Amino acid sequence: MRITNFPKEFIKAIPVLKEIQDAGYEAYFVGGCVRDTLLGIPLHDVDIASSAYPAEIKQIFNRTVDTGIEHGTVMVLDHGEGYEVTTFRTESTYQDFRRPDHVTFVRSLSEDLKRRDLTINALAMGADGTVIDLFNGLEDLKNHIIRAVGDPHERYHEDALRMMRSIRFMSQLDFKLEKNTKQAIKDNASLLSKIAVERIRVELIKMFLGKNPNAGVETFINTDLYKYCPDFPNYKDGLEKIAGINKIKLENETECWVLLGYEFNLNIQQLKQLMRHWKTSRDLINQVEIAYSALLSKEGLLDSQVLFNAGLDLAICANHIAKLVGKEAFSDQKIKDQYMKLPIKSVSEIKVTGTDLIQKLNMKPGPMIGQILTDIKEKILKETLANDENELISYISKNY
Ligand code: ATP
Ligand code: MG
Repeated sequence: MRITNFPKEFIKAIPVLKEIQDAGYEAYFVGGCVRDTLLGIPLHDVDIASSAYPAEIKQIFNRTVDTGIEHGTVMVLDHGEGYEVTTFRTESTYQDFRRPDHVTFVRSLSEDLKRRDLTINALAMGADGTVIDLFNGLEDLKNHIIRAVGDPHERYHEDALRMMRSIRFMSQLDFKLEKNTKQAIKDNASLLSKIAVERIRVELIKMFLGKNPNAGVETFINTDLYKYCPDFPNYKDGLEKIAGINKIKLENETECWVLLGYEFNLNIQQLKQLMRHWKTSRDLINQVEIAYSALLSKEGLLDSQVLFNAGLDLAICANHIAKLVGKEAFSDQKIKDQYMKLPIKSVSEIKVTGTDLIQKLNMKPGPMIGQILTDIKEKILKETLANDENELISYISKNY
């Protein structure tokens, strides 16, 4: 099989392949970029595999960066682009069911393709477009099948993260998991506990953001993988509810956590705790807290105070989840329109500041100042007070 219609990323990178070949080595596009080209979907990175060793790659190109030289990866800089060129390698010494920290460089493409996780990820393509397919990846791609390369038990034993990757790709591409591959995940699910939670999370989130998260979550449950993830064993019911939602569609990681919190029936503190166990960033926890508060608010998502507190993006995020879980929801446009109507979008827009209260109204610094500002902020949002300096000062002098 030969690809003739190259995506622009390949056209740009072909001179790099050719230069490696001219120096007497083999070089191919490999993995995700070949898969996505065949599927006709956008590529996010172009990976090149080569028989040349890292030192040899560095001799061929003037400008390189050692991005992962111990794993055989050198970044080649060419016309403002960076291409990761990785030496063909095997990963023979798997300890602790994790990705090996030791790799052996080899000169044969087939050895390299053998160590890859899935048949659809084990395709290579030469500069002329010829596809090298040693494990029937093309057929699986055509039939929409996720299948481990070679013996699935061995593959998952070598690296337990591959089990999560398998269900991630299932969801991302909306493919079916081949029977023996699925059985091997069931049999080896407990090995997932050996994998760093951050790496599991990356795959979990990609699964949620995929085309068919319902199928992904369902398989995540019925292969028992969820049992080896932080806190999830306590929330099987919640996961089942998520799997049963009509056509989940999620746009970002914040939405994933808000959905999990809601279907797990968590309060805000419990959701934050869950996220800490999953080692998410503090920034993300803050965002999720804001969006989740909006979702749980009694006043609903069109309330000016709720919109003000959430900000537009997180209000829209809460709105998406509200729609999915069957709570009162609106069109995004409606949320936007309502948000645009807010008299103020941030406290800094209030026409009176704490300093004004102290200097113009001779108030003493202290907690009272904060209370007054909160009071006038709420009244401005309710539109019972105009955001006008004179009106605000007169209100404050009368009431405080
Ligand atoms: P995407 O970039 O869309 O997440 P991808 O297939 O490019 O998908 P990467 O994680 O970038 O995935 O990996 C690139 C390639 O490396 C894969 O296509 C696969 O061939 C191989 N690979 C990655 N992780 C593993 C693993 N844990 N075990 C075996 N092979 C792997
Ligand atoms: Mg990739």
